[in-house]
Amino acid sequence: MTFQELGLEPMLLKAVTEMGFENPTPIQEQTIPQLQGKSTDMVALAQTGTGKTAAFGLPLLTKLDLNSRFTQSLILAPTRELCVQISKDLINYSKFLNGLRVTAVYGGAPIMGQIRDIKAGSQVVVATPGRLIDLIERKAIDLSHVDVVVLDEADEMLNMGFKDDLDQILSNTPPTKNTWLFSATMPREVERIASKYMESPLEISVGKKNSGNENIQHIYYTVNQRDRYAALKRIADFYPDIFGIVFCRTKAETQDVADQLIKDGYNADALHGDLSQAQRDLVMKRFRSHTLQMLVATDVAARGIDVNNVTHVINYNLPEEAENYTHRSGRTGRAGKTGIAIAIVTPREVNKIRDIERIIQNTFTKADVPDGVAVCEKQLFNLVHKLHTVEVKDEEIENYLPKIYEELKDLSKEELIKRFISEEFNRFYAYYQNSQDLNIGNDGGSNGKTTRFFINMGQLDGFNRNSIKDFLAEVSSLNPRFIFNVDVKNSFSFFETENKCVDEFLALNKKGIEFNARVISFEVSKAKPSGGYGEKRSYGGGSREDGRRSYGGGERKSYGGGSREGGERKSYGGGERKSYGGGESRSYSGGGERRSSFGGSREGGERKPFNREGGNGGGERRSFDKPSGERSFSGNREGAERRKRFTK
Ligand code: AMP
Repeated sequence: MTFQELGLEPMLLKAVTEMGFENPTPIQEQTIPQLQGKSTDMVALAQTGTGKTAAFGLPLLTKLDLNSRFTQSLILAPTRELCVQISKDLINYSKFLNGLRVTAVYGGAPIMGQIRDIKAGSQVVVATPGRLIDLIERKAIDLSHVDVVVLDEADEMLNMGFKDDLDQILSNTPPTKNTWLFSATMPREVERIASKYMESPLEISVGKKNSGNENIQHIYYTVNQRDRYAALKRIADFYPDIFGIVFCRTKAETQDVADQLIKDGYNADALHGDLSQAQRDLVMKRFRSHTLQMLVATDVAARGIDVNNVTHVINYNLPEEAENYTHRSGRTGRAGKTGIAIAIVTPREVNKIRDIERIIQNTFTKADVPDGVAVCEKQLFNLVHKLHTVEVKDEEIENYLPKIYEELKDLSKEELIKRFISEEFNRFYAYYQNSQDLNIGNDGGSNGKTTRFFINMGQLDGFNRNSIKDFLAEVSSLNPRFIFNVDVKNSFSFFETENKCVDEFLALNKKGIEFNARVISFEVSKAKPSGGYGEKRSYGGGSREDGRRSYGGGERKSYGGGSREGGERKSYGGGERKSYGGGESRSYSGGGERRSSFGGSREGGERKPFNREGGNGGGERRSFDKPSGERSFSGNREGAERRKRFTK
């Protein structure tokens, strides 16, 4: 089937042909003949990436009176990005039509300019629901001539809480209008809108109802909660040419993961709602141009991202709503390309994978997080491959060559290859040679391999989950990843550690670690260990309290001061301490300017979620003296500054 055979208007046909559209996509095949020049409501089940914008955009253009300056079509979409994208697409389709004016309106941009544009005579307004309500309330838009309302990504708009806005908008438009609703999924709320506002709508579904995109391979890895970040790094290292989106659940987690990746030398950045519009635009510009390899994003911020060739979508955490998975994974496998969607899950989240499988009507493959050997091998061959494709700047290098040849003249070809390769290989080999297997089975994780400890300090000592973890890591000189399931009570706390670390903590009893002039005692608790896989709540559960949540938040101040009267806290948090927020830190790679893969850092994200200037409160430090030069207390100033900006 061709666009011509579908009867697409000649001027539109010319435009899409110029845009490189050779044949209509399945959804376009269905909508174009049914909507062009006709008057009908429609409900279409379609994922992003199926060509749905043209599926409604092309017929919509044929219904406009371009000599009139009234707003005749209203397109509602969940995000600014999507609004802008739709507007651009419409303008492209209308290249050979005269007189079309499209205005995109969305929050976060000055409303006056948008009002001016609408008043200048836009036949099409593409809007986020919230901003449109604003315009309606200001009487800045006349909807009495609206003939077609398109609800794009209706399920998303409802997920984002636009239910009342949609109701208000739909009841403010003429009853004679046609409504075309597009949704990737069909939850009850979407059905409600369809039955309330539409009359015998045409029902269109591309592929099976709720089916996922066939071009996407879905994989999940099962790891301990504390190994999520390490798993992410493995993925990034295993796919050196990754061009991907990493989805996190909260803004704080997004920023945190992005900061860690940056610190570890990856070419990554964050996209979330706490960034200014200018910052978000810049990140998106870098991502679109492939200057940025890994975009770490929240669901909301990444909605409407229309970037082709995304190779991987990584669910660092599964979405709160299983249905959002479709939107996330739909960012890859677009326009006929294949893509991989990876979910990093803890054992207790595996049932969520099953829910998602039902929704996408597709199965996940359980795969193993690549081990160190696999990663090294992949990197090695990637390097070898690059030697073939590297650009040789003959002129620039010419002058140096004689000296280089002279210096290397004793080496055979084999020897030379070995040495050049080793120069790079040694670095990641050193990093990965002792790397651990991050995979765990689905039978409840590392049950039996952890020990629960009781300690006689808690909230009354000014500690919270994060700060106590940092404290324990410091006194034991253990990597914080070995301390998990921290449960801080008023005057005491529990934590778990791996069995192999038990002695380290018991030994502290002999040392007599003091805090607030009290000796801290470490006792093995009789209570059953939780199984060692992380947080108590895992999916969809209320407020997040895991290590990342308080990032930039208020309660994170406690360590050595903060909410407590600083004076009391003498024994800990002394002024001389250099490790926090200081300069010693990171750059594990030793390389400095490496940009991607093998930033070489160590796994497990030792990064502390606090970056305080100077020490930790006042007071001199008496009880323990282990600045643990080896660990890095996130001395990444750049990260700290960025974060400060972002978490205002
Ligand atoms: P959408 O689902 O509207 O976000 O479209 C996904 C991508 O497919 C966009 O980059 C479109 O430009 C592209 N596209 C849409 N229709 C066609 C077509 N008929 N042929 C080729 N590419 C298309």
